[in-house]
Amino acid sequence: MLNEKMLGLGTASSAIRQLFEYGKARKAEIGDDKVYDFSIGNPSVPAPKSVDDTIKNLIENEDSVLLHGYTSAPGDLNVRSKIAAYIQEKSGVEATAANIYMTCGAAASLTITLNALANEGDEVILLAPFFPEYRVFAEKAGFKCVVVNCREPDFQIDINALSSAINKNTKAVIINSPNNPTGVVFSEETVISLAKLLEEKQKEFSKEIFLISDEPYRELVYGNVTVPYPQKYYNNTIVCYSFSKSLSLPGERIGYIYVSPKCKDAGLVFAAVCGAGRALGFVCAPSMLQRVVAENLGNTADVSIYNKNREILYNALSEYGYTAVKPDGAFYLFVKSPEKDAAAFAEKAKKYELLLVPSDSFGMGGYVRISYCVSTSQIENSLPSFKALIEEYK
Ligand code: PLP
Repeated sequence: MLNEKMLGLGTASSAIRQLFEYGKARKAEIGDDKVYDFSIGNPSVPAPKSVDDTIKNLIENEDSVLLHGYTSAPGDLNVRSKIAAYIQEKSGVEATAANIYMTCGAAASLTITLNALANEGDEVILLAPFFPEYRVFAEKAGFKCVVVNCREPDFQIDINALSSAINKNTKAVIINSPNNPTGVVFSEETVISLAKLLEEKQKEFSKEIFLISDEPYRELVYGNVTVPYPQKYYNNTIVCYSFSKSLSLPGERIGYIYVSPKCKDAGLVFAAVCGAGRALGFVCAPSMLQRVVAENLGNTADVSIYNKNREILYNALSEYGYTAVKPDGAFYLFVKSPEKDAAAFAEKAKKYELLLVPSDSFGMGGYVRISYCVSTSQIENSLPSFKALIEEYK
């Protein structure tokens, strides 16, 4: 007898994957350039040259057995020290190697963190719209998920709604900024209000409430926008970071967990993270990639390409009559569906060979997500289809 829950997850692929697979089949049928696939968040900009240079240099000059061998379970000490120094410099909050656990990307960072925290009866709050895998990871860890919608139309956190949802069972809140799927960056004002609320609730319920900050898009921001460091404002913060998007390395599976030293009993929280990593088999993240990212802290893929895509798409869609919040970060545009049922709208979009993800997958109805991490020519060529689609609603 198999585990029913796992069997269910394994046989029913996500709506995003299904659309992506549909796109592949459709492209084989009518040609690659005829299908405008905006389904998946796979970076379209190559990794910076410095990444390839580092890899070549390591292969040519380092001892191969050491380079490809196991590191210690939480990661190479030197790598963790470099990452800690970088975080400290950027955030102003203390960090040492003892706060850093190397992982296989944000998915592993989240899974490990959630497993480190969950006890029976605990609840985690997800702020909708949210990355769909949060629910999968949190429920497997043993959490009950409680969903709180963000404020429309700006998609900042609805502090009052969040306040009403927090109760004696609340163990953690997950935030994601820049956000997938909205592209919104939570403002400093939002983060300060969130921190204040969580402090009050910790006092009210005499317990720790952890803020899990999922940050794979931290460096993908446009204009003068800055992304506040939540650990500056709230002590019980755990950051789940990934280099998948910033360095365009999603297939290499590399990231880290940062347990703020200001967490209550930070050493014990970190020990629980190590324990969860061990129990899940997530020890010793890919050795060579640990070395690569440590040499590329602060480097990013060419964000100006995403910015160009963002400007073309946002300006054209606004002109045609679509409504969306202009994204400050990540590479997603969250567009209001012109009919109530976003899935029906996404289905209509397929007639124009536009593959858009209905927002129901992100825990909130009424929108579609457009991933604009595609070639600029795909965006330009798709515009007449977007125009024709909205005309149907006029
Ligand atoms: N969190 C968010 C918000 C994401 O969008 C993604 C991937 O798209 C992940 C986590 C997982 O990232 P990784 O590829 O580093 O596991």
